Amino acid sequence: MLTNIIRGEYVTEVRYELAFDDGHGNGYGFPCDANGVVDEGLTSDALRNLEYCRQHPEAFKRANEVVEIRLEYKEEDRGTCRCGETVYLHDQYRAACQCPKCGRWYNLFGQELLPPEMWEEDY
Ligand SMILES: [Zn+2]
Repeated sequence: MLTNIIRGEYVTEVRYELAFDDGHGNGYGFPCDANGVVDEGLTSDALRNLEYCRQHPEAFKRANEVVEIRLEYKEEDRGTCRCGETVYLHDQYRAACQCPKCGRWYNLFGQELLPPEMWEEDY
């Protein structure tokens, strides 16, 4: 059995993009903050594209506009394997998953299972 089982929370992640597109997301989107300040660390290709977009706003229906993107998802349940590794409970193989460090198998409740090669086949 996994220990320290933590049930995944529902998470809302908010990101912003500086959009140059057709109004439906077809075009360019540059990661930025809520004020439209573009992230540092864009690749040189992305910076070239941003420069092009800023010089040609007429080419886009929506230009230089901050767009909020909301991602809502549930974190995976997780627990600690006997080897100490964190195991994320997801359906990796027939509603079971494997510890990435030691190879033990667990069901989605965190109960340890025999390895799949020892499971009986259904006929
Ligand atoms: Zn393990």
